[in-house]
Amino acid sequence: MEKHDIVIVGAGPGGLRAAELLAEAGRDVLVLEKNRELRDKVCAGGITGWCRDLNIVPENCFEKEFYYTIFTTGELTRKMKFNYPFITTYDRARFGEHQREQIEKNQGEIRTEAKVTKVSVAEKKIEVNKKEIGYNYLIGADGPPSIVRRTLGLRYDPINCYQYTTDESMDLEMEWGFCARKFGVAAYYVFPHSEYSIIGIGHLPRKYGGTELPNKERFLTYWKDRGVRLKPETYEAGPIGTRYDGFSFNNIFLIGDAGGFANKVTGEGVYEALVTAGIVSQAIIDPQWNYEPELQRILKEKESYALLFDYLNYFNLIPFWEYKFMDLAMDFLVAIMANPLGKMVAKKFLLKIS
Ligand SMILES: Cc1cc2nc3c(=O)[nH]c(=O)nc-3n(C[C@H](O)[C@H](O)[C@H](O)COP(=O)(O)OP(=O)(O)OC[C@H]3O[C@@H](n4cnc5c(N)ncnc54)[C@H](O)[C@@H]3O)c2cc1C
Repeated sequence: MEKHDIVIVGAGPGGLRAAELLAEAGRDVLVLEKNRELRDKVCAGGITGWCRDLNIVPENCFEKEFYYTIFTTGELTRKMKFNYPFITTYDRARFGEHQREQIEKNQGEIRTEAKVTKVSVAEKKIEVNKKEIGYNYLIGADGPPSIVRRTLGLRYDPINCYQYTTDESMDLEMEWGFCARKFGVAAYYVFPHSEYSIIGIGHLPRKYGGTELPNKERFLTYWKDRGVRLKPETYEAGPIGTRYDGFSFNNIFLIGDAGGFANKVTGEGVYEALVTAGIVSQAIIDPQWNYEPELQRILKEKESYALLFDYLNYFNLIPFWEYKFMDLAMDFLVAIMANPLGKMVAKKFLLKIS
């Protein structure tokens, strides 16, 4: 039976980053990816300033950078400015290729069209294309719904998104929107790239009342009324894994979306995937290393945005979502955030952004 020291399931940013670090440390790594291309993953292709600060996504993958975001709620449209690139859009396919080069330079292997169909925990082997492969360590980096996660008996409770791509970038601005009356408990986003823009919407977790997305016609009509034609044939949808239930299970690890590390409110997951890939690699390279503080830090960050919603839950205000209350709360928050003092207070008590 073919056997490798470390088998990684999934060649998203998390799996490839872990492979890059482990191959660089001279370990025998095999990455298995079900798709033919590394880019075949639904994503809006935006990274935050803190993700950029990791210096992992190279500058030649960047497309547009935004030192602001427009925030639209039921009643208000505000421009929030930042003294750093709050969002940078990037070419995810080019980044995947860059990661591939780094891995192959250090003799790591990526096998595409290799869908893992079975994981045998006791026998330390997986099945791919009717062939068994053994491992010492297994990293589940296979996004939601991860086969590695499901084999471990963990639940899967994703937030769902759908999005469209415009023909050209149309000079759109970077924007987030939240209006419960129009779209339910969901947030929409506009991420302009160099040659197109991505416009999509994702619901908030169940816990906060988000279960359904607005039907496509309503979303298309909203954008048509704003003068933006979205082509129905560019529709694509995908889940985001935000339910964390553990990172290490003896010699099996879950990272990125498979581990439920993505941000519950914003849906950001590339940063979390890259950071948890760093943690897992270090934990495997140096088994004496105490990864707990690093893990707790990323879990705390992941939760930070959810605080506002946790407060609303605490005071049992979530049932009022659909009754305009939430729109008023969001209007209020955005009005506060639009001035520097309010932003400082919000940063201290609520959010990670500055
Ligand atoms: C519509 C949408 C828009 C998003 N926009 C953004 C954004 O702008 N910025 C951001 O930070 N995050 C965004 N996210 C979230 C982000 O895409 C994920 O959090 C991130 O890609 C997670 O990386 P990952 O490496 O953990 O997993 P993934 O990127 O999901 O990669 C998992 C890989 O595993 C492969 N795989 C799955 N099952 C198997 C199997 N059985 N065998 C072999 N391979 C398998 C998949 O094909 C995939 O390539 C978005 C998500 C969605 C759905």
